[in-house]
Amino acid sequence: MQKGLKVVFLGGVGEIGKNMTAFEYGDDIIVVDSGLGFPDDSMPGIDLVVQDVSWLVKNRNRVRAFVITHGHEDHIGSLPYVLADVPATIYGSRLTLALIDNKLREHPGIKVKAVSVKPRSVVDIGSFKVEFVHVNHSVAGCFALAITTPAGVVFHSGDFKIDLTPVDGQVIDLTRIGELGKKGVDLMLCESTNVERRGFSMSETSVGRAMGELFEKYKQTRIFVATFASNVHRIQQLLDLAVRHNRKVAFSGRSMLNVSDAAMKIGEMKIDKDRLIDIAHVSNFKNEEVLVVLTGSQGEPGSALARMSAGEFNKVHLGPADTVILSSAPIPGNEKSVNTVVNNLVKRGTHVVYESLAEVHVSGHACEEEIKIMHALVKPKFFIPIHGEHKHLKKHKDLAIRMGMQARNVAIPELGDVFELTPNNLRKAGSVPAGIRLIDGKGCGTTDSNVLRDRLQLADDGICIIGVGFNKTTGAITSGPDVTTRGLLFLEEMETMIPELKAEIIKSLEKHNLNGGDLHDIRNAIRKDVQQFFFGRKKRRPLVVTKLQGN
Ligand SMILES: [Zn+2]
Ligand SMILES: [Zn+2]
Repeated sequence: MQKGLKVVFLGGVGEIGKNMTAFEYGDDIIVVDSGLGFPDDSMPGIDLVVQDVSWLVKNRNRVRAFVITHGHEDHIGSLPYVLADVPATIYGSRLTLALIDNKLREHPGIKVKAVSVKPRSVVDIGSFKVEFVHVNHSVAGCFALAITTPAGVVFHSGDFKIDLTPVDGQVIDLTRIGELGKKGVDLMLCESTNVERRGFSMSETSVGRAMGELFEKYKQTRIFVATFASNVHRIQQLLDLAVRHNRKVAFSGRSMLNVSDAAMKIGEMKIDKDRLIDIAHVSNFKNEEVLVVLTGSQGEPGSALARMSAGEFNKVHLGPADTVILSSAPIPGNEKSVNTVVNNLVKRGTHVVYESLAEVHVSGHACEEEIKIMHALVKPKFFIPIHGEHKHLKKHKDLAIRMGMQARNVAIPELGDVFELTPNNLRKAGSVPAGIRLIDGKGCGTTDSNVLRDRLQLADDGICIIGVGFNKTTGAITSGPDVTTRGLLFLEEMETMIPELKAEIIKSLEKHNLNGGDLHDIRNAIRKDVQQFFFGRKKRRPLVVTKLQGN
């Protein structure tokens, strides 16, 4: 039987973020991207979400490489957690590797080999031949991939847009993509983030123009621009404006400092060193001489902008002589925190410009017409939409069919799905474990852990702690029941309800014999009775902790 190429979807399908696709041919596996997902409201206290990679761990001896399309968090963010169990060489552009290096510095235990690649370079990794194709996006050094195997050629779009006037002049390599299409692509995986947006995305250089107008308009004020640290080209446009308007530049926020430093080192970002000042020294300059480029465009608590807007940033105090520009669109889920920041700034009398008011941001993802161009150039035999929630993947499938593909040649993948490509055929070939792992501080747990359930219950219904001392031989209660509640009862309710609850607990205890009975069962019984008590009176089911102390 002919050997097939297996495509394993470990993340980024049916969801935005946490991108990861593995390719398996014979004895070799390569992994494309290893990104973070972000916790939602159902995961209180969880810092990060990463892929379940148990399948990779099981096959770790066959994993030859991590091939990284670009340096965004949703493509590199889980590397520290994955590399710890699955060590392999990383391939990526210089900027991508600098961003990864930055990240891994916080995880000193992880040592990796990294190979930097240039546009159009081709590397052999086991049975795979991987070609890196330059594409435009909201981070520099971004690639699509052409992956050649004996079973067929796969084109993986990565994240992309078509920018015909990019900041660095490097237009997406449409020529090469067309050539690959002409030679024959068997399977295309193409991103779907903006498939619901009609038309074309705007060029990144249009942001520079809009910013230029704002620099004119707010000539007399200090200017603060919040954006993503990885958007090197946007920051470069700001640096160029600073030169034109003779402003000094201060970077603020940890990732902004780290990334700008890394980008300047490899020449992706250019500015005269004596134009840079420390954020602590901005007050030494006149208002019209200051530009601050900072983190926090998503309203992230703890970010430079969030702290400044709340008046918690010692080195800078914002007021009516300042202009703050938020140069990014809120990622779904962040609208509230962005709003808080904007309101805080307005309260201080600061001028605030955000996305809905001006063209200070453009998307880095291809809109409908750009996606169509990609399909027209690649002309794949089979197609699987990726990077999107189910609704995006479905829209993308419809688009492909509208462009002439046959429905049976398009598949919508689910997390964990394995597809097998053989010459002239693509079929679903089982599935592997896939899902999420939650990173909480330095710990790492799984979704089914009780921790989350407890946190949600605490947040909604509060907690009730019960302490009872008893005599082990007689079973008689010697102290308590003591009852402590938090987040459950209002002051006026406590006076009446706590004595009632105590009586209820004693009644409940009398049904069991404390000398000799199974304490675990008794605790469960009390928990049920206490929950019933509160449900009856308050429609609340608090977390109940019962301490039974025998002596
Ligand atoms: Zn991206
Ligand atoms: Zn992405």
